[in-house]
Amino acid sequence: MTATPLTLDLRRGDGPPLDPSVDHEIQAIVAGESLNSTCTTDLAAGPWNFDTRPGYGPGSSMGDVIPTGSPRQGELPQEYRDASDEELDARVRAAKATLGDRAVVLGHFYQREEVVRHADYVGDSFQLANAAKAHPEAEAIVFCGVHFMAETADLLSRPEQAVILPNLAAGCSMADMADIDQVEECWEQLEDVFGDLEAVDADGRVPVIPVTYMNSSAAIKGFVGRHGGIVCTSSNARTVLEWAFARGRRVLFFPDQHLGRNTAKAMGVPLEQMPMWNPRRPLGGNDDATLLDSRVILWHGFCSVHRRFSVEQIDKARAEHPGVRVIVHPECPMDVVDAADEAGSTDYIQKAIAAATEPTTFAIGTEVNLVQRLAAQYPQHEIFCLDPVVCPCSTMYRIHPGYLAWVLEALVAGEVLNRITVPASVSEPATVALERMLAAKP
Ligand code: SF4
Repeated sequence: MTATPLTLDLRRGDGPPLDPSVDHEIQAIVAGESLNSTCTTDLAAGPWNFDTRPGYGPGSSMGDVIPTGSPRQGELPQEYRDASDEELDARVRAAKATLGDRAVVLGHFYQREEVVRHADYVGDSFQLANAAKAHPEAEAIVFCGVHFMAETADLLSRPEQAVILPNLAAGCSMADMADIDQVEECWEQLEDVFGDLEAVDADGRVPVIPVTYMNSSAAIKGFVGRHGGIVCTSSNARTVLEWAFARGRRVLFFPDQHLGRNTAKAMGVPLEQMPMWNPRRPLGGNDDATLLDSRVILWHGFCSVHRRFSVEQIDKARAEHPGVRVIVHPECPMDVVDAADEAGSTDYIQKAIAAATEPTTFAIGTEVNLVQRLAAQYPQHEIFCLDPVVCPCSTMYRIHPGYLAWVLEALVAGEVLNRITVPASVSEPATVALERMLAAKP
């Protein structure tokens, strides 16, 4: 778990301080003061401009279809929309000081710098859920991340603790790609192909074990818990797949096809035994024979941030920076992972950079807010994002300091806004699936 303090006064050589703020860079691009480019100039606006519109808002998943039932955010009071950056910064600090230990603020690695600087803990979704668990005394856990992360924190925290998501429109396009109704329907179709999905064979294995990535709704984690399955993170996906193969002949992996494919391929599973399940087609677009021969059935989901990375970007980085070390996240497509020097979780990427003893050039394939912060944090290295277009995660973008100030000042006034609660019928099996993951050992 990483405690925050991140200094803003970092220098590379004798040059000017490096600015870790992606928002500042976007503002400079839109003002014509930077030669870089962004995927949309809408990113320079406040996220409240998009709260009532359909879609994920500007950023990496703006081209994806948002489910109709996704939570929407009500209007942010005008005073928070009008406040300057400096005023919001001061108001968040003041509210936090008043609340003291009553509230813990968690900030995901991909969150904007202006929010992360207020976080008591910075980390990936699972590290932050554990940070929430480590503070049973806090009345409120303010989760500056996305919806499924707040749900996981609710699963792992005490029932009396309120988990708050500052902007309810901060979902996750990848998590939304595995809808519980579609997954239930898939399971019924697999029953038609494999028969009783709880029947064990002579080796003691069932036909299919469902495995869900942490980046999925609590409803999906609950489904997995009810059907003998397990949750994984990008750090432990291999260990979890080994756990699953010890108990089942094959795995149904969702929502991220790329993490599933990259992990199973590294374990020696042939690509032809990893069919894709398209939830809009009968049998996911497969025939019985393909499914019967499969080892890993991959759900048709992906992360729109990590899908932006390409082999061409890696080739360009190698041509322009001889000796560059290319590290990408395993949510990237397989050809990108294959072309990189290393692939690993955000935690892996951070540790790899921290462990480099000689000045090194790193080209990183993950969300730009983390990459830019690492570049500022480690000025002895040259660190840049493989994607030259500044295009942050659309849904992380929805958490702005204005929303953070709003929910914290409401807490000071005794009001809990935007509470995320997982119903008991879901939380019990979902917790079972999480506990299986915690108990799985390499
Ligand atoms: S980076 Fe990708 S997986 Fe992470 S929250 Fe954004 S859309 Fe979801």
